[in-house]
Amino acid sequence: MLMRIGGKDTGGSDGRWIDVKNPATGVFIDRVPSGTPDDVAHAVDAAEAASGGWKKKPMRERGMILFHAAGLVREQHRDIAQLLTKEQGKPLREAIDEVRGFASILEFYAGISAHSSGEAIRLGPSGDCMVVHEPIGICGAIIPWNMPVIIMGWKTGPALLAGNTMVLKPASTTPLSCLKLAAILDKAGLPPGVLNVVTGSGESIGAAIVRHPLIRKVSFTGDCTTGQKVRQQASGLLKDLTLELGGSDPMIVMDDAEIDKTVEGALRGRFYNAGQTCTAVKRLYVHEKIADTFVKKLRVRVEALKTGNGLEPGIDLGPMNSAEQRERISDMVKDVTEKGEGKILTGGCSLTGPSYDAGHFYHPTLVSDVSPGARLLTDEIFGPVLPVMSVPDLDTAIFEANRSRYGLGASVWTTNLATTKRVFDEVHAGVIWVNRHLTVPPEIPFGGMNESGIGRENGSHALESYSRTKTLFLGW
Ligand code: NAD
Repeated sequence: MLMRIGGKDTGGSDGRWIDVKNPATGVFIDRVPSGTPDDVAHAVDAAEAASGGWKKKPMRERGMILFHAAGLVREQHRDIAQLLTKEQGKPLREAIDEVRGFASILEFYAGISAHSSGEAIRLGPSGDCMVVHEPIGICGAIIPWNMPVIIMGWKTGPALLAGNTMVLKPASTTPLSCLKLAAILDKAGLPPGVLNVVTGSGESIGAAIVRHPLIRKVSFTGDCTTGQKVRQQASGLLKDLTLELGGSDPMIVMDDAEIDKTVEGALRGRFYNAGQTCTAVKRLYVHEKIADTFVKKLRVRVEALKTGNGLEPGIDLGPMNSAEQRERISDMVKDVTEKGEGKILTGGCSLTGPSYDAGHFYHPTLVSDVSPGARLLTDEIFGPVLPVMSVPDLDTAIFEANRSRYGLGASVWTTNLATTKRVFDEVHAGVIWVNRHLTVPPEIPFGGMNESGIGRENGSHALESYSRTKTLFLGW
């Protein structure tokens, strides 16, 4: 597939390519141009040329185009989901949810387009003020590989509705579904140049987007270390930055929780997308009164999970997206075995055998009795490995939950309102779920505290973050 600049499929300026392979089979799927900073400059020119006309359209008209695009995505959801599974690895069922989720996000923003708001401030005899939100201009979007379709929706939906144009860079292992969606948005009526997709490496294309002086805002989603680099690259440029970074979400299970429902919550919360979700359950704290029963039940469910090629029926977990990702997870688990930092209850290694050897498969893994300083607790585990710790009371659970540099999401599983209130007030996280984890509908603001990032995406808050405030003072 080619890049999409100014509404046209375009090759890269230096003729080099990136092969996209299926992480379950190693089979070549397609290739995309390995772009250069010149391609970013070309995309910025296209975005600049489209900017004036797009921002002058009434917001309701922009919303109608997003709504039309959502309809086309729903019509083609199976094809897009198959492409997503092939390049990313996730089970087709999850890919279908993700593609429909993209359509829901566009529909949400189309829905609020009728409520374009401002403010009037009456100042008495000296005058009156009118406060409006106007588009920022050209926005940059940098996307990771784990949920490329949803995250493209979180960025394009509010940015385009607000009247901005965009230069978007997908991850190098998952560019195809993003390119396909960009072509659909164009077909739905986006004027050429409103949305441009440039493919290539992070160091080249990502950095060029961050550094380009005409790109006034960058929304980046990815690893914390890359987020820090993005911040450095943008320093001195006075650029608006949204950073959606990694997490190490705690899940707290109290002794009054409904055990079977909570076991299912932990299973989905951790192993959805083979554990490669920013806000997956990454540390599980269970009240000691129910810990044995809970862990036994969870282990049975984990051992029943079926890992394989996401295109095959009945698969619960696909492969890890790349050899490097699997290597990272293996290293963290090796620490447990080699340094005695915990006890592996099940899993703990790569899957091998004829159906697995060509892919990057890892056994769903449970680890108990993890030492407090172990990397499994201090770093983000971006794969199907769950550390489970027993805690004597809520105070300890909250203390342990907060013993992390991250602050993306957290959940508490309980039937007690007072417990809920304490967790909500005291745990440092951008989203706190009660008897749920992972669910992020388009209406809710989403983002992290501490090293999990800066800014919020999703919901009407995101629309504001893609706008700037302008005031008119009327002196009578
Ligand atoms: P990554 O940081 O390796 O890459 C993310 C994107 O940044 C890719 O497109 C990459 O090419 C680009 N990039 C790499 N170097 C760059 C540079 N120097 N300048 C600009 N761009 C650069 O992350 P990943 O491995 O693709 O994604 C997984 C991470 O994303 C996890 O940490 C996960 O928790 C996080 N994530 C966060 C959220 C959230 O909303 N908070 C959502 C999904 C994923």
